Amino acid sequence: MKQTILLLVFAGLLQTLFAQQQKLPRVVILATGGTIAGTGASADRSAYKAGELPVKDLIAAVPGIDKVATITGEQVSNVGSQDMTVDIWIKLNKRINEIFKNNEADGIVITHGTDTQEETAYFLNLTVRYDHPVVLTGSMRPSTAISADGPKNLYDAVTVAASPLSKGRGVMLVFNESIWDPRDVEKVSTTHVNGFAAPNSGPLGQVYDGKVIYYFNSVHKANKQTPFDISGLTKLPRVAVAELYCDAPATALNAYVADGVDGVITGGLGNGNLNKANTEAVMAAVKKGVSIVRSSRVFTGRVTLFDETDDEKLGTMVSDNLSPQKARILLMLGLTKTKDRKQLQQYFFEY
Ligand code: ASP
Repeated sequence: MKQTILLLVFAGLLQTLFAQQQKLPRVVILATGGTIAGTGASADRSAYKAGELPVKDLIAAVPGIDKVATITGEQVSNVGSQDMTVDIWIKLNKRINEIFKNNEADGIVITHGTDTQEETAYFLNLTVRYDHPVVLTGSMRPSTAISADGPKNLYDAVTVAASPLSKGRGVMLVFNESIWDPRDVEKVSTTHVNGFAAPNSGPLGQVYDGKVIYYFNSVHKANKQTPFDISGLTKLPRVAVAELYCDAPATALNAYVADGVDGVITGGLGNGNLNKANTEAVMAAVKKGVSIVRSSRVFTGRVTLFDETDDEKLGTMVSDNLSPQKARILLMLGLTKTKDRKQLQQYFFEY
């Protein structure tokens, strides 16, 4: 009799536990590599190799993550993000759209190296067709370092992806307890754990002590509000970035054009200004049908039309306040739709 009662109590407990588990949001972690999956020979040395640990080890290193969400992990790639590619972006895009289409998860976390994380985030922001939370994160210290920041960032990213407050917010980047908009965020430190900031705006919100709070909404169009459905594409137009400096020759720009790129972003001086050599090279490139967008090497502020530069005469567009590396992504996607300068320029004001 006593045994039967004990068994019934145990079965009841199991059932409650199972029901609780069932109610947890479902988060899929797509791992791509980076320092978060990096390992080094010793804890007090910085020398390490990015993209070594498999996704199951990343998840196992985060105590309590299974109480925040029902987690599944998938390895998409395992590279340092200096080796991130458009092919991997397209693969990620397809898998994310498929997960949401098939209702396989409520939110997605992407572990990613920090070097190009803002680019992947912005690319996905423009191309994923669903506005469910997709949260990118990574770490500045490898998994083997003293005070590795990866497990905490991953815990926070899952917390944000699983939060009901994140519904409809689409792609975000979570790092060092801040939540960032993919359009505005930039890597701002080569080595510090506080590696990201949005110099033109600020964080969207915070994740602290397992709780999520938002302070702002992004006003830029994203996800399905953009025309950039790339589901039928296996590659994208080629766009390069040519940066200027004092007395810069047009060698880089001319070499890209000779190599057959479809577009070039100039990382210009001040308000996207070009010196004489690069102005001439730009006009020649535009004549050959290459799309040119003036951006700036200055990391805050906008690049505006018809300031010191006559964009009508040059045939150029401006990036608004997008960094050169993000302007490149928007031009690559824009060129899948049109070559019309006015239409492309409009994209830079909308997305
Ligand atoms: N080079 C590394 C990467 O981007 C740096 C990092 O993840 O922090 O993969």
